[in-house]
Amino acid sequence: MALERLRSLARMAASFVHSRWCLRFRSRAQLEAWQRRQLQRFLREVLPRAPRFHDLAGTPLEQLPHMDKPLLMAQFAACNTRGIELQPALDVALRAEQSRDFAPLLGEFTVGLSSGTSGHRGVFLVSAEERERWAGTLLAHTLPRTLLRHLLPWQAPLRIAFFLRANSRLYTTLASRRIDFAFHDLLLGVDAALPTLERQQPDVLVAPATVLRGLAEAKLAGRLRIAPRHLVSVAEVLEPADADLIEQAFGRRPAQIYQASEGFLGYSCEQGNLHLNESHLHIEAEWLDAEQRRFQPVITDFSRTTQTIVRYRLNDVLRLAPQPCPCGRVERTIEAIEGRADEVLWLPALDGGELRPLYPDLVRRALTTAAAEIREWSIRQQGMTWQLGLLADDPERQRPAIEQALGSLFEQQRVRPAQLQFGPWQAPETGAKRRRLLLEQRPQEPACTS
Ligand SMILES: [Zn+2]
Repeated sequence: MALERLRSLARMAASFVHSRWCLRFRSRAQLEAWQRRQLQRFLREVLPRAPRFHDLAGTPLEQLPHMDKPLLMAQFAACNTRGIELQPALDVALRAEQSRDFAPLLGEFTVGLSSGTSGHRGVFLVSAEERERWAGTLLAHTLPRTLLRHLLPWQAPLRIAFFLRANSRLYTTLASRRIDFAFHDLLLGVDAALPTLERQQPDVLVAPATVLRGLAEAKLAGRLRIAPRHLVSVAEVLEPADADLIEQAFGRRPAQIYQASEGFLGYSCEQGNLHLNESHLHIEAEWLDAEQRRFQPVITDFSRTTQTIVRYRLNDVLRLAPQPCPCGRVERTIEAIEGRADEVLWLPALDGGELRPLYPDLVRRALTTAAAEIREWSIRQQGMTWQLGLLADDPERQRPAIEQALGSLFEQQRVRPAQLQFGPWQAPETGAKRRRLLLEQRPQEPACTS
């Protein structure tokens, strides 16, 4: 047991050192050469062990079929290398979710459950080894240099507070003698966590953007006395207004981890820019616009060995930064995670009538600049109708400004205006992600006349 623990720490440390110092590439060409070598090894040695890819050994990546979450669930056993069936994995994950006891594993595997915003539930398998590598990589990419000394044996341990919707072994792996790790269950809410946070006095605070904002508000109101030296926003889009408030409360801007059940997708560097985790993932861009700025990522994770994530289309819309980052990293820089693909709203163009996308950042900007007094808002699109939910002291007074802001947005984008219907804002259930925009139904496509 002691030996196993030692091995496990060694693997985590090795991956930390490897990610932090070895996987620094001087040029894009060098990074791509590394990816090619890793991909070849992965396609040759790992992939054929999953039944779905049995007969595709030796097939180049670009000829392999695409996958997404529904396919991964439908062919669960065929897509992993250990012959694990969906039902037992799902049972373990659901049991953990209900009992809030996250210890159960399926053999040596952690089972993660992703709620999925569009109703598709995903089950993800991670082996002990993958878990340790993940922990090392996460720390390597996020810890600022000043906090590294905590990992030395004679220093006080590094105190990390994590807020997550569901704990799993994936996260508790980080606990060791060098790291004092406290897990907070998001379902209990921000207020329940305040006393524990004050007791722990974390050096590092990791939480979804909305929770960081809640903690910032508590700190500004004098209800929370902590002084973390590093903040990391996970799981949700970090909006600039939230980042400002968090900075005002804690005196530093939060770093961002772009992480989904599908993998560790990106991290922000010391310049505050988000880089894709291309030293562990191969990422194809499926372009959404003619300028090739916005895309849906199609990922192949060549560092996973249990569940295959191969040419997997994520439901996210990313926007590339126009220039490379001054930090010098050659991994692609993302200007924004604009949101999920089902947060893109669509309206018919004035000329021709084909549907044109209205990206989440455009709609967000229109709303937040229109009316500073709105505390919360949401838009759900059903055909040509946009249902707006508003939370403000006097929502009626905000309406004209919003109608005008959206009106100019429609005009500027040269689309037919949506019919706006106003109503009260509904808070998401505790622990659920904040979603401002939701496409429920696109407008009718114009009938083909040719
Ligand atoms: Zn950078």
